[in-house]
Amino acid sequence: MPLLLDIYRRFNIKTTFFFTGYMAGLFPEVVKMVLKDGHEVGSHGKSHLPENGFDVMPFEKQKQHLAYTKKLLEDISGQEVISFRAPALRVGEHTARALVETGHRIDSSVASQRFDFFLSFGGFKKLKWLLAPRAAYRTSLESIFKKGNSPLVEVPLSAFFLPYVGTTMRIFPGITSLQRWGFHGETLLTGKPVVFDIHPNEFINESDQKRVIGKRSKNPVTHLLKDVIRSKLKVKNLGPGAMPLYERKIKFYKSRGYAFIPVRDYCENQELL
Ligand SMILES: [Zn+2]
Repeated sequence: MPLLLDIYRRFNIKTTFFFTGYMAGLFPEVVKMVLKDGHEVGSHGKSHLPENGFDVMPFEKQKQHLAYTKKLLEDISGQEVISFRAPALRVGEHTARALVETGHRIDSSVASQRFDFFLSFGGFKKLKWLLAPRAAYRTSLESIFKKGNSPLVEVPLSAFFLPYVGTTMRIFPGITSLQRWGFHGETLLTGKPVVFDIHPNEFINESDQKRVIGKRSKNPVTHLLKDVIRSKLKVKNLGPGAMPLYERKIKFYKSRGYAFIPVRDYCENQELL
């Protein structure tokens, strides 16, 4: 976190940090560090446990997790928390209603036109992303993937087949360089903001730690494809190696006049709220 906050200070970047209730409860001082630097504090649900994905939890449980984390973050920060990003971007259609009923106004979990080739968790459900709008939109109350007139604004993450996230940046640095030209072109054409997503732990070198490969699938073939290969790929450029890749990306947009702002500021500036 100090590394990340430092790079944001150097490049005059303000962003949204989405905290899980679990992490915020363990490290409330980190939430305060982020606020002190002028970033937005958003909710990342209760935890990253696979069973806490918003695409598998029943509606009432989704609401419980949202309300719990919002209150915890508001108690720590003393500020209203209105923005949400789902752990592993796993949202279900009814997550829109759950967010509205718990007082959230912004979601940024839909990666429109992302296609995971079924390698990520919840791969089949994520097919809904293929048809979601690319520009920010007011969602339907019935489906977070569709336009409607609910009070919830969706700010989709940048994606085109591959998601624009830290993992892609680390595993396929070459592809990410191509991606940024594509997203920059799209911004010039349509004004869509570039939305990038990275986890602070991607800058931590964990190579000395034993890595246990979780078994999320009982079928040996899918276990090999989904868990083993995925786990091996996920550690590439993890740690200090990720920092120069990130800086290069930031400089690309900085030199082209982009402003780096929290999702809440974007929605306010665009009068979407
Ligand atoms: Zn996360």
